[in-house]
Order: sequence, then structure tokens, then C-alpha cells
Amino acid sequence: MGLIVQKYGGTSVGTVERIQAVADKVIGFRKAGHDIVVVVSAMSGETNRLLGLANHMQEVPDARELDVLVSTGEQVTIALLCMALKKRGQDARSYTGAQVRILTDNAHTKARIKSIDDANMRADLNLGRVVVVAGFQGVDEAGNITTLGRGGSDTTGVALAAALKADECQIYTDVDGVYTTDPRVADKARRLDRITFEEMLEMASLGSKILQIRSVEFAGKYQVPLRVLSSFEDGPGTLITIDEDLSDMEQPVVSGIAFNRDEAKLSIRGVPDSPGVASKVLAPIGEANIEVDVIVQNMAADSTNDITFTVHRNDLAKAQAVLEQVAKELNAREVVGDATVVKVSVVGVGMRSHAGVASTMFNALAAENINIQLITTSEIKISVVIEEKYLELAVRSLHSAFGLDAE
Ligand code: ADP
Ligand code: ASP
Ligand code: MG
Repeated sequence: MGLIVQKYGGTSVGTVERIQAVADKVIGFRKAGHDIVVVVSAMSGETNRLLGLANHMQEVPDARELDVLVSTGEQVTIALLCMALKKRGQDARSYTGAQVRILTDNAHTKARIKSIDDANMRADLNLGRVVVVAGFQGVDEAGNITTLGRGGSDTTGVALAAALKADECQIYTDVDGVYTTDPRVADKARRLDRITFEEMLEMASLGSKILQIRSVEFAGKYQVPLRVLSSFEDGPGTLITIDEDLSDMEQPVVSGIAFNRDEAKLSIRGVPDSPGVASKVLAPIGEANIEVDVIVQNMAADSTNDITFTVHRNDLAKAQAVLEQVAKELNAREVVGDATVVKVSVVGVGMRSHAGVASTMFNALAAENINIQLITTSEIKISVVIEEKYLELAVRSLHSAFGLDAE
């Protein structure tokens, strides 16, 4: 007996039948004596459909109105799920983010949760009701609807679990746990029984879309026991753990391969080799609210420098325009943009105590004739930027090279 927060993603509530199956599953947990708070996403495809509608109205849709629009997807599923629960004799109550009072800042389309009022949910749970909350959305101080960024229902789930001090937060999705890499890209990917918060955070930040990065940050900060499971079949899923001491198991050097298809590369060539130039190049990019990822500088033979960095693909045109301006001021030779790159990363806390991970990685890519354009490392990851067309091949060969393949 305990309090469980369960989050069901888009595919898990993608049809009327799937929503009915979720209702049955929730009732199973109620019968086992648990209190249940459910967080649901919009039906699969719905958020993309709504974003598409917005694009017919304005090239860059107004952020406040966009949040009013896209938050409707989740409002549909909370109501339908409550109806399905009631039909089955289980009392239930739906809440939008504003009705719970999931208070956020006012950064429309990427708002951050500031606080959650648990009073209404507690009252319902005490009456034996299942509480069903719309994921992905909140409300700011002024009463405006906000949303938490793509994949944000994960964060709603974990944040509610933290606020309610739930015994577990269960993220139900269309795969049966966290794998060594995306099982849709490498069919030899293996499900992990456990993964540390640190590794999960790194995987999420490097592009693994299985969990929104903010949900992992939240879970780590508030020590929420977090599990990723399939809503389609029973199984233990993957537990995200704080414990790094896997002494009973062999600690792998690399736990997973992550990749990000949303990268684009920009180079400014022939800038003066003098102090302050990197800042002159990158500061205006930051001022334009564009996030920069991998940065590399190399010196050309004529002792000028080339500075190359990556940005989100959606920001390429904007970043390139800013950089053209900088190039004029610095008398640089040229600016080159490339939207056909991806980033592939190997991740593992075991890398701390093992040398040679980089050479294994580079050898594996060389064996497939994959050219590495940029490299960046941290204590527990190595990332490379490569040509987009090699993504699948790179992921599969690294997966084998680090001994991650399923038998
Ligand atoms: P939901 O709609 O339930 O939130 P998502 O599509 O956001 O589901 O996340 C689940 C998907 O994440 C899987 O279908 C899978 O393709 C992808 N994925 C990426 N990396 C991994 C990984 N390491 N392990 C498992 N799934 C992954
Ligand atoms: N419906 C939102 C999205 O598609 C939030 C989510 O599913 O987590 O991004
Ligand atoms: Mg998701």
C-alpha cells in the first residue's frame, strides 16, 4: 500500500481502446490498495497536429497563444480517462495544470515549475478517488497557461511525485524500459535493470528522448524513486537509482549510446588570432537566445583561426544571420552552415576509472569509414559530431564495440 504517481505517454493513450486499457491498469493498482495519481500526455500525434495548425496562422506563432493551443491535447485525455474509470465504477477527478495549481514561471513553451499545491489532490485521494492530471502544462502568477517543453509530461509526473512524496513515480511508455540505446535504431539494444541518475541525466541531455531531461533533474534533486515501464506489457522496467555501487554486478565502462538528430554546425573562418575573438563571435549568439553546444577552434596556416560550433537545427538560420554580421565586423573570410550533422555520444560512470574509451570509440568509427568532425568530452561521456547519413551505422558499431549487444 502506498501512493504511486503514474505517467502515461502519447502512444499509451493514443486511442480510445488504449485509454480504456489504462483505466483497467489503474484499477488493478487501486485493487491492490494503492492511492493513484495519473498524469497523461495528449493522444499520440495530437501535439504535433496542434503545432501544425499554429504554423498556418503565424510564421512564428505567439508563444502565449501557442501554450493555450497545445495544452488542449492533454485536457482531452484527462477527461476521457476519468470517464473510462467512472464507467468501471472507480471514482476519479480530472485536473488541468492550472486547476491543481502547478505554478510555473512565465517562460511560455519552456516554463519551469516553481511550486505545486497538493491540497485538492490530497482531498480527492482521501475520498478514494483516482486523481488524473494533465501533463505538460501549468499556470503562471498572472493566470496564463504555460507549457513545459516537448516531452514535458514526464516532468509533471516526477514533480507531482516529489510534491506528494509518492512512494514511486512510474513512467509508462511504448518500450519496456531504458535501453543501452534507442531500440528503434539498434535491434541489439538491451534493457537495463538499473541506471544511475547521473547517467540518465547525461543520456537525456545528449538526446535520448525516453525521459525529458528536466524530469530526471527533478527526480535526482528530490530523490524520487523513478521507474520506466511499458504500458503494453508487464515487466520490471528500469529503475533510475542513486546508488552507484554495483559491486554485485560487473560495472560496464560504457552504459549507453545516445544520439541527437537536431544538431546543425556553423563555422566562421579566418578570424584574427587574438584575445577576445571567441567572445566576440559567441556573445551575440547568446544574446540572440541561441544555445551553443559543441565548440571547437583551430588555427589555420596563415595564423588566423576557424571557430566551429553546433546549435539546434531550428536555430541555424537565425544563428547564421547573426554570424554573418559578426564576420563583417571581424573581417572574417566566410561563414558556413551545415544542417546535415548529428551528435553521437557514449555515456558511462565507469569511464572515470577506465582509460582507452576514446580510442575504442574512434577506432570503431574509423573501421566504418565515418569521419569525425567535432569531439567533446566530459568525465562520463564522449561525443562526436558526424555526418547525418552515418547515424545508424555509428550507433550500431559503437554499441558492438563497447560490448553492449544483446546475445
Ligand atoms: P512517450 O510518448 O511515452 O513519452 P517517447 O516517444 O517520448 O514516449 O519516448 C519513448 C521512446 O524513446 C521510445 O519509443 C524509443 O524510441 C525512444 N528512446 C530513445 N532512447 C531510448 C533508450 N535509451 N531506451 C529506450 N527508449 C529510447
Ligand atoms: N504532449 C506533449 C508533447 O508531445 C508532452 C508529452 O507528451 O510529454 O511533447
Ligand atoms: Mg515522452
